[in-house]
Amino acid sequence: TTRVRIAPSPTGDPHVGTAYIGLLNFLYARQRGGQFILRIEDTDRARFVATSEQEIFDSLHWLGLTWDEGPDVGGPHGPYRQSERTGIYREYVQKLLDNNTAYRSFETPEELEALRKSQIAAKLPPRYNGAHRELTPDQIAAYEAEGRPSVIRLKVPTEGSTTFRDELRGDITFDHTNVDDQILMKSDGFPTYHLANVVDDHLMRITDVIRAEEWISSTPKHVLLYNAFGWDLPKFWHMPLLRNIDKSKISKRKNPVSLIFYRQAGFLPEAVINFLGLMGGGMPQTSGTIEDKTHAATADLFTIPDMIERFSFAKISLGGPVFDLVKLKWLNGEYLRALTPEAFFQTLRATVFSDDFLRQLVPLIQTRVEILGQTGDLTDFLFSDSVMPPQDLFVPRKRTLEETLTFTADLLTTLEATPWTVEAIEPAMKALGAEKEWSVKENFMLLRAIITGKTASPPLLESLIVFGKARSLDRVRRFLE
Ligand code: ATP
Ligand code: GLU
Repeated sequence: TTRVRIAPSPTGDPHVGTAYIGLLNFLYARQRGGQFILRIEDTDRARFVATSEQEIFDSLHWLGLTWDEGPDVGGPHGPYRQSERTGIYREYVQKLLDNNTAYRSFETPEELEALRKSQIAAKLPPRYNGAHRELTPDQIAAYEAEGRPSVIRLKVPTEGSTTFRDELRGDITFDHTNVDDQILMKSDGFPTYHLANVVDDHLMRITDVIRAEEWISSTPKHVLLYNAFGWDLPKFWHMPLLRNIDKSKISKRKNPVSLIFYRQAGFLPEAVINFLGLMGGGMPQTSGTIEDKTHAATADLFTIPDMIERFSFAKISLGGPVFDLVKLKWLNGEYLRALTPEAFFQTLRATVFSDDFLRQLVPLIQTRVEILGQTGDLTDFLFSDSVMPPQDLFVPRKRTLEETLTFTADLLTTLEATPWTVEAIEPAMKALGAEKEWSVKENFMLLRAIITGKTASPPLLESLIVFGKARSLDRVRRFLE
């Protein structure tokens, strides 16, 4: 039976790409009566974000996706969280050492960095030089006696090439001269993505790997690993990447990519999943352009059951689908208008005017209003899609527009990396201000103007928390556009 999976890494906000790839895997499994598995690839401890896993589950459930096996629901091939499987990877990598398809390499990070620099200086692609491919047992023992840490690398043949079949593209060949001796296990004993991904796909009996196009260049390494283990290959399907309007890979600098953003900004899950289903053209062709609304209206509306019935990989077009926010908003509007007034009211009450959200307004306004009718005056920015900071209002007088934009870009980078609590945001902003010589007053006033559109508002930090990270950062990004 067909078994497919998504394997997101909990490194930050749940990504719209994860939902897109998740939907395609889900549809394929449901169409074929197979199983859809969710695996958490959390072996990169440096990028690990503790809240991320739950947010991935919640966002995918919000969109209506369900999985048959996963960390939260269990299943016969668990555990489904890679950090709980390190013993398995150690056992399997030992097999590769034993059959001489992998080797220990003892270079220090400084040595590797020096190598990389010399290659870049010589205009060569940076790549491991294979110096430790054939160490003798004595040399290995000597390095170990020195207490040098080691990594385990894949022994990519020095000659020839690897060819695999991509179900959408046909055969793809990579010369081995272009494939690095990939690190499979790091010195901390954690596997890299490549090793863990292949071992798990095999042990979890995955039949079809459906993932984003950006993984094509990793696939020859995976194929070499399958061969080294003596395992059958799954089928590989690499989906076109979602693109910004300018055709670059969708990125958070140009489009909101966090599913949390879409949820908090008031998109309906039915509209988002419908929109993702239209991406790549796997649904029957429609006249789905904004200009052609009347035709698009009915032709573009698909529920998950419709998609299970009608989606087809044969119809996928390889040119990158454009993630057009204007179209998504239009589609969302269609869904909103299709609601009965009562359902619309209930939706408002569950989202924009939920008790949870309104409760968060209390500390922002209670000490500041004389009559309740002033609530809107203080909180309008929380209910707007965008605000317009008046030019002369937000640019602190002694700063040029250029300085302001440069500082805002740095602020955005800082905030992206900051956990969303008052205790974390305040020192992060102050540290940046100190570094760039922006006073606390200037710094906070600028952000206040961007977020609220005003120079006076409820306390900035608390307002940021209520507005949420995803929407706050989106507002900063849009200010920079
Ligand atoms: P960003 O550019 O926003 O930093 P990223 O590639 O670093 O994106 P990840 O968190 O690595 O983001 O991606 C999450 C998942 O979404 C991965 O499985 C990735 O393959 C997939 N993905 C990322 N970008 C796209 C895209 N443009 N189209 C389709 N899938 C994508
Ligand atoms: N952990 C990878 C990711 O972040 C999995 C990619 C794959 O599907 O192989 O998407």
